[in-house]
Amino acid sequence: MHTNRGAPTPPIAFAGDPSSVSDHLATKRVEVDDVALRRLRDACDDIVVAADVISEASRDWWPLAMIWALDNQVAARASVVARPTSAEEVAAVIAACSGSRVPVTAAAGRSGVCGASVPVYGGVLLDLTGISGIVDVDHTSMVVDVLPGTFGDVFEDQLRAEHNVTAGHWPQSIALSTVGGWLACRGAGQLSTRYGKIEDIVIGLDVVLADGTVVHTGGAPRQAVGPDLTQLFVGSEGTLGVITGARLRLHPLPASEVRAAFAYPGFTAGLDATRRILQRGATPAVLRLYDAIEADRSYQTGERNVLLVLDEGDPHIVDATMKIVREECAGAEVLDEQLVERWLDHRNDVSALESLVQRGFVVDTMEVAGTWSTLPVIYERATEALRAVPHTMVASAHQSHSYTDGACLYFTFAGRPPEDERESYYRAAWDAGQRAVLAAGGALSHHHGVGLNRARFMRDALGNGFDVLAAVKRALDPHGILNPGKLGLPSPFGDLPWP
Ligand SMILES: Cc1cc2nc3c(=O)[nH]c(=O)nc-3n(C[C@H](O)[C@H](O)[C@H](O)COP(=O)(O)OP(=O)(O)OC[C@H]3O[C@@H](n4cnc5c(N)ncnc54)[C@H](O)[C@@H]3O)c2cc1C
Repeated sequence: MHTNRGAPTPPIAFAGDPSSVSDHLATKRVEVDDVALRRLRDACDDIVVAADVISEASRDWWPLAMIWALDNQVAARASVVARPTSAEEVAAVIAACSGSRVPVTAAAGRSGVCGASVPVYGGVLLDLTGISGIVDVDHTSMVVDVLPGTFGDVFEDQLRAEHNVTAGHWPQSIALSTVGGWLACRGAGQLSTRYGKIEDIVIGLDVVLADGTVVHTGGAPRQAVGPDLTQLFVGSEGTLGVITGARLRLHPLPASEVRAAFAYPGFTAGLDATRRILQRGATPAVLRLYDAIEADRSYQTGERNVLLVLDEGDPHIVDATMKIVREECAGAEVLDEQLVERWLDHRNDVSALESLVQRGFVVDTMEVAGTWSTLPVIYERATEALRAVPHTMVASAHQSHSYTDGACLYFTFAGRPPEDERESYYRAAWDAGQRAVLAAGGALSHHHGVGLNRARFMRDALGNGFDVLAAVKRALDPHGILNPGKLGLPSPFGDLPWP
């Protein structure tokens, strides 16, 4: 599959005519009446009502919805697509939606894997991909001012070619996703151990609120001027405001790069090595531990659990980092560092999912986070729980992002249920996996976010912190128009569509 440079890449072809796609979910759809449509046309030059455009714009890469596409369905469709080209148009569209009490769902790359940008109650789909580009680079402070609809590959290429710098954020979906989407989902790049997750990279935002007013957050570094309002919007998945600008940290292009690979007989022993490396203060850009199933699938390494290491940056720091890595991996089997090359060659390949879905498999990934003391239990219990679901063929995991206090475990499961049981199997697998993770003390998600798919676990995940989130939502969006039906938050437009 080729990605569409600078534009969303559809996850899978519709089985039939995109103009006659229907809704899978039974949610009542909010139509945009003539009065509201006139208001929208006054607010934004590009308002689209064509059925085929609406069908495509209403879906993302949620794997369950890829199965529905085989029946020419999406989860739910918007009534109208608005394509603003400026922050002013975004503010005017949102003010119009607020006045008409119409739901408005932000969408950009539409590479989310949890249905977060699906307009579950219809209304307006706010396509942010027309607001893109680098506004300014401050080379002294190493800060870039960037627009939200900028696709990741375009952004990195321009930073490197024209400014000799990198933002260091490199998700597998870099060519599918945008800066605004990274921020809204609290995303993680594959080099995050060196450069940080997006919440570490961002220092300020421009956000349009539910009434159409604009707020600017951030300013001087680590300012102590009340709570950090930037972080209120990072991870809010379009439910608290729409991001129209961002200031991100930059780094010089790496002057050196070193690779290594090691093998462990057990997954826990590999986890322990990564913990020791991080706790000694070393932060190699890539530190990924694959369990034996995943390692053998990708690298034909048999029973071995494989740790891949890559660091880049200033040569003195890279040397010191790799010295610590080698000391802490002294007891491991040393593998050919060519394995890292093989990982690099495939790390942005996003083609596998479509062909598996076409062949009748139900496949998904479930990334979670836990402290070092809980990770071995989370690994055991979640893989056991996923394997116990009838029709599961395989459940495996790797550790993908690590910190001094813990790490992200990234589970993959695949099953081949009868055709009419694909949805129930998918739901059962998620129920089993997430409940096992939560019971073992893990977090619901590390970087894919919550969206629609994980909404039903939110109260268990946050406890009474969920009431605080709901209170913030009420205060910032009293009419509940911003991306309703997500994060498990109550919606004035109806019950949760995927309870
Ligand atoms: C093959 C594949 C690999 C992936 N690998 C990674 C990975 O390595 N790391 C990772 O973190 N994620 C990964 N993802 C998930 C996905 O790419 C990320 O969640 C990404 O950040 C979504 O960005 P997007 O522009 O596609 O957002 P969308 O899918 O369009 O939207 C996602 C959410 O963000 C909201 N949103 C989008 N833009 C804005 C805005 N400007 N203001 C407010 N809200 C907004 C939407 O309302 C929605 O709730 C992967 C996905 C796929 C399909």
